[in-house]
Amino acid sequence: MNRDRWELMKISVTSLIALVVVLSFYLYKSKLHIAKLESSLFLAQARVQELKKLEKINDRQKIEISRLNNETEKLKSKIEDLENLSKQVQTLAEKTLKIDLLYKRGQRKYSSRGSNISLEEVRKKINKLDNTVETQKDNLSQIKSQLEILYEWKYSVPSGRPVLGCINSDFGYRRRSFHTGVDIRSSIGTPVKATANGIVSYAGRRSGYGLTVIIRHNFGFSTLYAHLSKILVSVGKRVERGDVIGYSGMTGYTTGPHLHYEVRINDKPVDPRDYL
Ligand SMILES: [Zn+2]
Repeated sequence: MNRDRWELMKISVTSLIALVVVLSFYLYKSKLHIAKLESSLFLAQARVQELKKLEKINDRQKIEISRLNNETEKLKSKIEDLENLSKQVQTLAEKTLKIDLLYKRGQRKYSSRGSNISLEEVRKKINKLDNTVETQKDNLSQIKSQLEILYEWKYSVPSGRPVLGCINSDFGYRRRSFHTGVDIRSSIGTPVKATANGIVSYAGRRSGYGLTVIIRHNFGFSTLYAHLSKILVSVGKRVERGDVIGYSGMTGYTTGPHLHYEVRINDKPVDPRDYL
């Protein structure tokens, strides 16, 4: 038996085992990423379904929602691809482990017999797999940021009523003037809630509108709440959908207690009924 050669083989086998352990660790990390993203994707899909239910949505929104649906479907198939890739990596890792064991057994019986695979080749293969895992990680983080945009959209589009009550005046021409919002009947002191996440851009008295709050949302949306009896927020405050921003009242030009509610896209008033 060539003692030096035997020592070299022992070192090679030990190095190989160490590399396989490192690879397994990367695989485990990558699987955790995939599991997290799958649950995020599930949530995103559920939210897209909710978006679909919004009644009388304008054309622009319809196009946007269909685009987001397509995006979600694409993301889903992307994640499936990554899962397949992960399985392939795992199969390769298992193969590597098998080669290692056969190699050891072979050494015990026929010390003079060599292996067709050099340590350098194995090292190259492992490096290649490591790169694959890294690429996978990059792809996953890209998907994550896309999902974050999807969440942002869902919570930036005004949705629901700021107060419960009947609409007693609609958006559009009213006698000689244009009514830029809807009037929702509500008794003085009823809590008024933000209809989407955003930042308060105005909080104070306005000619005609009385005590008014304006909230800026993402994607060009803003909402306006007028004739309030009390304001609970100040300019710059970040609010979430459902947060109470003030109480309804009858400040400004009004014949009775109600909330004047406006939805604007790029500062242009649109019919709030499309977003209730
Ligand atoms: Zn009004």
